[in-house]
Amino acid sequence: MGREVHRVPLGFNWPLNKVWEGFLKPDHFGEDQCPDCKIGYSPQAQNLYDLWYGKLPFDPASTGSAPWRHDTLAVRALAERHIRSAPEFYGTGETATAREAQRLADLFNQQWSHHLSQDDIDALIAAERLHDFTHTRSREEGWQKIDPPVRPTAEQINEWSLTGFGHDGINAHVVIEARCEREGIETRCPTCKGHSSLERYEGQRAEAEAWEPTNPPKGEGWQLWETVSEGSPISPVFASADELAGWMSDPARGHRWVPPAAAAKFIAEGWAPSFVSTASTGVVSGVEWVGHHTDDERPDRSATS
Ligand SMILES: [Zn+2]
Repeated sequence: MGREVHRVPLGFNWPLNKVWEGFLKPDHFGEDQCPDCKIGYSPQAQNLYDLWYGKLPFDPASTGSAPWRHDTLAVRALAERHIRSAPEFYGTGETATAREAQRLADLFNQQWSHHLSQDDIDALIAAERLHDFTHTRSREEGWQKIDPPVRPTAEQINEWSLTGFGHDGINAHVVIEARCEREGIETRCPTCKGHSSLERYEGQRAEAEAWEPTNPPKGEGWQLWETVSEGSPISPVFASADELAGWMSDPARGHRWVPPAAAAKFIAEGWAPSFVSTASTGVVSGVEWVGHHTDDERPDRSATS
């Protein structure tokens, strides 16, 4: 993205450096926050969400999982790694290691995400969220399902969840949704149907989805726009391409000045990336670059910013 030439009416007077209103989704599409939920979950599902992250008191026994201990191998290994990485913070030796291991075990025992049941694991497998265990990967074939299918155990996945890769928010949602379904609980907030917001008037959401940006009006004038934001005009409207080129190459423009030939070529081409990095010249302004190079040297638009 960078600079563009727009043909607008000569009398077009949208303020400079202000994003054209047609490019912005109108504020009146904003919905009200649902009064009955935080993120679209029913109260029961919200409780599960809080248990997942340890924001409500969690008991490992509730999922049939054994509590982590300071001498569990995976916990102990993580504690040793912490201590090696910051001995000045944790101290050294057996006492420090045991203390850190106990702290970690206590922390992990407060979170459902480290004590999933086999039902929870099966839900993750069904949703294809455990590829590291159920698939192999090669450069030639990408992810391939292991045959016959592998069913990782809860112990395996819970131990893996301590390693730092662990579960993401999608996994949390998959497990919560599956558990609600097993237990006959509504997952979504009944008030907002899971949207976490409410329409201010009927049909608002459909209108917002149908909304499309509108371009500025077309006309005889020539104007320079920046496209780093959604898009706003940055020059006066000129009656001819030559006048716009003259403005762009006016020395009064200071560091944004471009050579006249570059300005003319830029306008002829209609656009330029903001900055272009080349091996020979380093980073130069996109307008200048377009002015000095031939078409077949132009970079891929998507590679510029
Ligand atoms: Zn709600």
